[in-house]
Amino acid sequence: MAFDKALQSFEPVLGLETHVELGTESKMFCGCATGFGEPPNTQVCPTCLAFPGALPVANEAAIEATIRIGLALNCSIAEWCRFARKNYFYPDMPKNYQISQYDEPLCSDGYLDVEVGGRTFRVEIERVHLEEDTGKSTHVGGATGRIHGADYSIVDYNRAGIPLVEIVTKPITGTGELAPEVAKAYGIELREIMRSLGVSDVRMDQGSMRFDVNVSLNKPGEPWGTRTETKNVNSFRSVERSVRGEIERQAYLLSEGGKITQETRHFHEDTGTTTPGRSKEEAQDYRYFPDPDLVPIAPDVAWVESLRASLPELPRVKRLRLREEWGVSEHDMESMTNAGAVDLVEATIAAGAPAADARKWWMGELARRANESGTALADLAITPADVARVTELVASGALNDKLARAALEGILAGEGTADEVVAKRGLQIADEGELAGIIEQVLADNADAAEKVRSGKVAAVGALVGAVMKLSRGKADAGRARELILEKLGVS
Ligand code: ADP
Ligand code: MG
Ligand code: ZN
Repeated sequence: MAFDKALQSFEPVLGLETHVELGTESKMFCGCATGFGEPPNTQVCPTCLAFPGALPVANEAAIEATIRIGLALNCSIAEWCRFARKNYFYPDMPKNYQISQYDEPLCSDGYLDVEVGGRTFRVEIERVHLEEDTGKSTHVGGATGRIHGADYSIVDYNRAGIPLVEIVTKPITGTGELAPEVAKAYGIELREIMRSLGVSDVRMDQGSMRFDVNVSLNKPGEPWGTRTETKNVNSFRSVERSVRGEIERQAYLLSEGGKITQETRHFHEDTGTTTPGRSKEEAQDYRYFPDPDLVPIAPDVAWVESLRASLPELPRVKRLRLREEWGVSEHDMESMTNAGAVDLVEATIAAGAPAADARKWWMGELARRANESGTALADLAITPADVARVTELVASGALNDKLARAALEGILAGEGTADEVVAKRGLQIADEGELAGIIEQVLADNADAAEKVRSGKVAAVGALVGAVMKLSRGKADAGRARELILEKLGVS
């Protein structure tokens, strides 16, 4: 059913479960390294491979990072809590259980405010707990990469035991048609917080941040409906699309008199739709119980308070401050946040560019190029210092906008620094002598327009300036050309 129509009959409820791999040096319960992309099964030991007799010891840095996340999300920090065993079989989990937390999470009852369309939505946080990641199975030989149809499977345990934080929201209500955007904005805000805390590299393409997206629908005034859980959604765009797609699918089913099955679902990037996974097991199926191999965690209150006192300026507070400093609207700030441009603009200003110019290039030309190549702004092959240098060249009159764009293009193409690109490509604004020659030519070629201007129709000068830009192949300073033309035609 079309999204708008679905929202006329139903109210959506959302729930987001976010997994964040922590960037600690070593794993959660052993001393193994945690680097991404190392040869398979080279970062393993008897503990994370679950050899008989090997015992886990909790990683203090991971506990500290989790508490900092909890504090940044306005949570209460448990004074005493335990790890629990979550029992199930999967080949990428050597112990046959995952060490997680169940009824005693390290952090609980917080919130995160997110802004969408000028409105603030308070997303309540149920819990933030610490667990270990599983290994990675690769199914070889099939067409889809899934186990069905594969010839064989191989397992890499390098990831097994990497500390993983799970952040679970309470049901999010009252978002209406903004549900997809609220889900996305929550994800983005959460990533910004992780970045500011420096606890994870939050690389969604490498799975160090991933979302499970719960959606249900109910008729106004009725109890919440049955939810589905779309697993392992790994881009913000997909978070948004999976919410939208699930609302459309569920609304259709419900309006046809059908029922929603509580199940996990897979999201498909190509179609923006979901297909069923497994029907949902209950918590009791996992036979959770406190892990007898690990001591309880009892963070000292004074330590927690010192962590609270040393939290960095959080993204939302920082954005409010920068909005004042840069003099931008809430809407512009929201666009910059969504484009991942805030830190880049800030760094460009720090490198000497005026705020308006820094914003203009990152949100204009560079955003367009990032979009075209499907990369994040931060991953473009250009630094804030490069952009600052380009704005400087424009401000000094050495480049005009068009030449500046060519300079940016050269930098992105790996041709060197701004100055190197300018030299190599001969990006140079026409000098006064050259410009005078070009103007003479243009006035001769466009006698009609020139006559109009001379007789007082100053607006006609635009066409002449355009002709100058064309003849100079973009190398003229348009403002200066306008001045010179008017001077020549005796209008000023
Ligand atoms: P599970 O282990 O089944 O994934 P969790 O408690 O970890 O369960 O997470 C369930 C998520 O779904 C939470 O974010 C919760 O707030 C959310 N949720 C619960 N009920 C509903 C509902 N009716 N509609 C949408 N989301 C819901
Ligand atoms: Mg869950
Ligand atoms: Zn290990």
